[in-house]
Amino acid sequence: MSFEDGADRLLVTPGSELYVKVGRIMSNERVKRPVPFAHKLNESSSIGRVIGVVSGKGGVGKSTVTALLAQQFARKGLKVGIMDADITGPSIPRIFGLKDRLKAGQYGLIPCVTSEGIKVVSMNLLLDDETEAVIYRGPVIAGAVKQFWSDVYWGDLDVLFIDMPPGTGDVPLTVYQSLPIDGVVIVSSPQQLVSMIVTKAYDMANKLHIPVLGLVENYSYYKCPDCGSEHYIFGESKADELAGTIGCKVIGRLPIDPALARLSDEGRISEADIVFDLENE
Ligand code: ADP
Repeated sequence: MSFEDGADRLLVTPGSELYVKVGRIMSNERVKRPVPFAHKLNESSSIGRVIGVVSGKGGVGKSTVTALLAQQFARKGLKVGIMDADITGPSIPRIFGLKDRLKAGQYGLIPCVTSEGIKVVSMNLLLDDETEAVIYRGPVIAGAVKQFWSDVYWGDLDVLFIDMPPGTGDVPLTVYQSLPIDGVVIVSSPQQLVSMIVTKAYDMANKLHIPVLGLVENYSYYKCPDCGSEHYIFGESKADELAGTIGCKVIGRLPIDPALARLSDEGRISEADIVFDLENE
């Protein structure tokens, strides 16, 4: 990769005209990245941008950040969807308190809709019992994700967020190679930042020529509710350092916040007012 026309342009594929603005969530210039095994989008739907939210491993807050990002875009008046591609660990419906099940319609499966109008598709919205384990092998999981793309009537969306399966294994690889992902947001925690796991997630996106649009550091610090002092439970932030290496921007640092955990556990994430730094979007 190399930079062209100043620091804010990243040449994604040498010799081609494929560019993306570094740090921008919604660039005007769409990256026309060749998708090796491109799966066809539902023919009655159109989707402006596809943004994956990734992490090196589970539990770092990827789903929470996906929900909050989607919410921020929806509040700007954009038409937003979330595909929960974390098939074996789906948590998006719970975060939004969605109780309905997906229904079949004339043009495909109809997503459930949150109180703020975000269309959501998740494996858990197909199961009779949300605690039921999804015991699928990799190819079946990947098949389910492809069906979420082709068999769901998304309608007209400005942006679709994909809560990606964690890690760098077979399933995320298939998702990357089947769906036209314009860019990814990486979610990490401070102790992860010093490990190689996040770098692996970055490396995977990089090898597949998918731009990293921003970095979110979750569990960044804990603010004492009594005196307001900040404590770095998982060590000092390394977000700026890593973002510098990757060539993206830190778009958020979320504290460890029991209130946020409670809101998402109770399906009331829409009451959270966390805002990411997307001023360049
Ligand atoms: P992942 O998708 O990476 O597996 P989740 O978003 O499901 O992670 O988060 C894991 C758990 O941590 C959830 O119970 C969530 O409510 C909680 N959580 C996430 N971020 C925070 C935070 N900043 N403060 C407190 N709890 C959080």
